[in-house]
Amino acid sequence: MKNRLNFLKKFEVRQSHVPRFNEECGVFGISGTKDAAALTALGLHALQHRGQEGCGIVSYDGNSYHSERKFGLVGDNFTKKHSLDKLKGKIAIGHNRYSTTGGETIRNIQPFYADLHGGAISIAHNGNLTNALLLREQMVREGAIFQTTSDTETIVQLVARSKKKDILNKIIDALMQIQGGYALSIIANGTLIGARDPLGIRPLVLGKFKNAFILASETCALDIIGAKFIREIENGEVVVIKDNKVESRRPFPKKQIKPCVFEYIYFSRPDSILKNKTAYEYRKNLGTYLAKETDIKPDVVVPVPDSGVPAALGFSQESGIPFELGLIRNHYVGRTFIEPTQQIRSLGVKLKLNPNQSSIKKKKVVLIDDSLVRGTTSTKIIKMLYDFGAKEVHMRIASPAIKYPDFYGVDTPTQEELLAANKNLEEMCKYIGAKSLKFLSLDGLYQALGYDERDNDNPQFTDHYFTGEYPVRPLDYLNDESLKKLSFLSLASNN
Ligand code: AMP
Repeated sequence: MKNRLNFLKKFEVRQSHVPRFNEECGVFGISGTKDAAALTALGLHALQHRGQEGCGIVSYDGNSYHSERKFGLVGDNFTKKHSLDKLKGKIAIGHNRYSTTGGETIRNIQPFYADLHGGAISIAHNGNLTNALLLREQMVREGAIFQTTSDTETIVQLVARSKKKDILNKIIDALMQIQGGYALSIIANGTLIGARDPLGIRPLVLGKFKNAFILASETCALDIIGAKFIREIENGEVVVIKDNKVESRRPFPKKQIKPCVFEYIYFSRPDSILKNKTAYEYRKNLGTYLAKETDIKPDVVVPVPDSGVPAALGFSQESGIPFELGLIRNHYVGRTFIEPTQQIRSLGVKLKLNPNQSSIKKKKVVLIDDSLVRGTTSTKIIKMLYDFGAKEVHMRIASPAIKYPDFYGVDTPTQEELLAANKNLEEMCKYIGAKSLKFLSLDGLYQALGYDERDNDNPQFTDHYFTGEYPVRPLDYLNDESLKKLSFLSLASNN
């Protein structure tokens, strides 16, 4: 590991604790329309919540590839005036980047492009590979030159080195070597290719717009352009889209799908469809179950906007306690969590929310949020509510306590920074300054998401945040000192 960390240092990757490359992102791809780049820009705009650090589009016009990659938001970068006119062709892929890791360089913004023996490839990736560093070390030892600090480049290098004959089989060959969570949108030799990891940890859907087929992280990217949602890409499925036809390959042994539970709880946009229901419906139901498990009778239910709103509505409807907007959000500030440092993150909460006195003064408030990570948001908000006259503030969280970090593409802090990993319920309650604190139970979570009870041998979600049960052994992280006490090491198997 020491060598590995030295190696990473050279590439500017964060290595103070667990090195992580490629955080939660959004991908899009379209094939079969002359407006491919413009529609990709719209799709990426709908997926903006998945990443705001940078965005990029690569198009292919039958002869040449065209690429534009920028820092910042889609709406600020991909307009006719700026970049769209240059992105010619009937096929395009796009990417929104979210990252708190080092290497804030344009080289890390996707889609990546490379000229390989047997054809060119451009790739956009959402997720995090758990063996990318091991593979990378090995390839560097053998002479490979890496240009970026992203794990996505590991995929490109594996494709480049594959001995298989055609580009599709080279890509499949590369997929067989990588582990972790991934949803990929690729252009290779004029073909749009999509791939989802063997457990379907990261989301990817298929849609249709007139004769064009679309790949997107979420269905909200289809709705924005009036495209039809066809189906989710299956776990372990590789789809090949050419000449307005979709072909499927299933190179991996069949496994039960285990989507990341955090897509349901927080990450996906509320209007996106996950397994036949909107994320909004699931989140409202999480609030319903939270109310079923509650032991208090407050005067008002107040959501932490926007992430706690659906759960607070469910809580209010189930309990009969009125829902009130006790906090008003300034919509011109991005997601607090997305700010890179703790100091800025704390400042972000103040910039973003202000109490609405008329709803909370002299009231017993139950404050609802979807999740509690470091406790930054709730600590600030609870103080604000008391400062503005609330009589009591009871915090209720519409998911279980997060005790374990993620390795598959969601930006969770290290275990040292996770409040619930280091404090018991009473200590957490004191820390955030609430009158009482309660989390939804794990059974409540499973019931709210549509399962009668959790089957312990076979959880239906990737739910390691709460259980420490990791579905894919994160090889790159196994020797990290800060992870030594985690229980997953004996539980997870390789995919
Ligand atoms: P914290 O303030 O650290 O306790 O974080 C909790 C807040 O962050 C909640 O309001 C969540 O909606 C939000 N949140 C939870 N997970 C994530 C994530 N992976 N990325 C961004 N925000 C998150």
